[in-house]
Amino acid sequence: MRSLYLAKPGEILIKEDSAARKPEHDEVKIKLLYGGICGSDIGVFKGKIAHASYPVTPGHELLGTIIEKGSSVDAAVGTRVVVQPNSYCDECGQCQKGKTNLCLNKKSLGVNTDGGFAEEFTISSKYILPVPESLSDERAVLIEPFAVVVHAFKQVNITKGTSVAVIGCGTEGQLAIALASHLGAEITAIDINEDKLNSVFAYGNIQTSTPDAVTEKMKFDVVIEAAGVSQAVEQAVDVVKPGGSIVLIGLTAEATLPILKIVRNEISIHGSIIYHFPVDFAESVQYLSLPEFVIEPVIADIVPFNEYERAYEAAVSGQYAKIILNFKEDSQK
Ligand SMILES: [Zn+2]
Ligand SMILES: [Zn+2]
Repeated sequence: MRSLYLAKPGEILIKEDSAARKPEHDEVKIKLLYGGICGSDIGVFKGKIAHASYPVTPGHELLGTIIEKGSSVDAAVGTRVVVQPNSYCDECGQCQKGKTNLCLNKKSLGVNTDGGFAEEFTISSKYILPVPESLSDERAVLIEPFAVVVHAFKQVNITKGTSVAVIGCGTEGQLAIALASHLGAEITAIDINEDKLNSVFAYGNIQTSTPDAVTEKMKFDVVIEAAGVSQAVEQAVDVVKPGGSIVLIGLTAEATLPILKIVRNEISIHGSIIYHFPVDFAESVQYLSLPEFVIEPVIADIVPFNEYERAYEAAVSGQYAKIILNFKEDSQK
C-alpha cells in the first residue's frame, strides 16, 4: 500500500509500504476514500509547527471504510467512518471535564504522530464516528473541519439578526460563514483576496470587504477571526461593538491589542481550539445532514492521491479553500 511521507519540511513523496498493521482489540483498519488537506498539514509541510516531528505521514481530515477490525469493535466491516485525529487520554483533569480538546496528553495525527494520507491505516475505534448513509463523501469529509466551527460558535451567541464579521475566508472562515448564514446572522466577510471574497456569495446574502475598505461605521456583535495573522486579530478588536465578542480560531502567534479599549468596552475574547469529541462531531453531522445547509462551495478541488504534488501546490498557494485528496481506486487511472 502507498502512503505520503514527509521526510523533513518541504520534502514529500509517495512511499510504497507493506500493508497497514493488522487491527487488534479495539482497533480498525480503514481504507481511505477522501483526505482533506488542512492548514496544519501545510504548517507541517513548511516546517512552521514547533511540536511537529519528522519523518511523518501527514493527514488528519480522513474519511474511509472499515475493512478489518479487532475483536472488541462493534462497528461492522464496510461501515463508512470519519476520524477524530487528536488523541486524548480520558484520564487527565481536562478529559475528566469533557474537554478532550485540551487533553494534557494530546497527540495529533499528521503532526506529532503518523497521519492518514495513505491507502489504508489502523487506528483505535475510539477515534472513529460512523457516517450516516445520507451524507455524501464530499460532505462527510468536512465533518472534522466543520466541527471546529461548531465548537467555536459555542463560545458566543449567534442567532437571527446577529451582526457577524468573519475575518479570513479560507476553509474555516467559509465554514463559519456557512453556519452563521444558516443561523440567520447578518454577515460581513473580510479578506485580502478578492477571489475568496467572491466565493462567499454562494453561502447567502453576504456583505464583503477587504481589510482596507472597512469603515468606522462597520461594527459587529460577533467577530470570528479565521485568518491567523496579527493584523486580523487587531482588526477584530477594531470592528467589534461595545459588549461584543471575538472568537479566535486562527493560529496567530502574537498580536498587539488595546487593552484599555477592551476593558472599557467589555469586549470578550475567546480562544477556541478544535472540538470536544464526540459531541461537536455529532452536531457537525447534524448540520451537514440538512439538505438546505450549503457547504459544497468550500471544496475548491478534489485531486487524485497520485497527483499529491499538484494538490499540495494548490493548498500551499493559499489561493483556495479546501483541497481534497481522492484515494478511491477509480480516481488513480
Ligand atoms: Zn484540519
Ligand atoms: Zn487527557
